[in-house]
Amino acid sequence: MSGDDDVLRTYRGKRRFDRTAEPAGGSPEGGGEPRYVVQIHDATRLHFDFRLEWDGVLKSWSVPKGPSTDPHDKRLAMPTEDHPLEYRTFEGVIPAGEYGAGPVIVWDEGTYEPLSRDFGRALEKGHISFRTHGGKLRGDWALSRFRGGEDGEREAWLLVKKNDRHASARGTPDPWRVRSARSDRTLKQVAREATEEWTREGGRS
Ligand code: MN
Repeated sequence: MSGDDDVLRTYRGKRRFDRTAEPAGGSPEGGGEPRYVVQIHDATRLHFDFRLEWDGVLKSWSVPKGPSTDPHDKRLAMPTEDHPLEYRTFEGVIPAGEYGAGPVIVWDEGTYEPLSRDFGRALEKGHISFRTHGGKLRGDWALSRFRGGEDGEREAWLLVKKNDRHASARGTPDPWRVRSARSDRTLKQVAREATEEWTREGGRS
């Protein structure tokens, strides 16, 4: 066993799986190239969730402004609890009253190549670089902790595009206009479809 029950305790403690469609985790997955996913989540505040598969879980950061293709943009990335690997495909609406209530789309997904030597140790030390091979995000990135970690202060990291041939001044697209990499839907469409479904279900009971 991977000790999965232990590492996902924080994640599970925040959620009621009889109410939210988010995965509880625990299915064996993985193998092959490690994967990354970027979800867009309209919770209390709209943000991007940046997740890297590592050590049997998705290491996660909440990035309020989202990843930028412009190496001049240093994007704040606040670590959040490890998520189960199955979260990689989660798209839908977290119901009102539940943790993180609001719609989620999978904006981008793909595999990544760890560039830091001893990636696990680099993660602990708070500085990693990696190369994404995705539908949207490509090239090299750095993710570095600049606050917290040892003194108990809440951690804050920066996500920055490295200057390579995939860098550009385009920045980040409008999160309200972009479409899901999995279903081609916008955040609003996902929200509307869930509301319609719940209304129908309510009508039947
Ligand atoms: Mn989120």
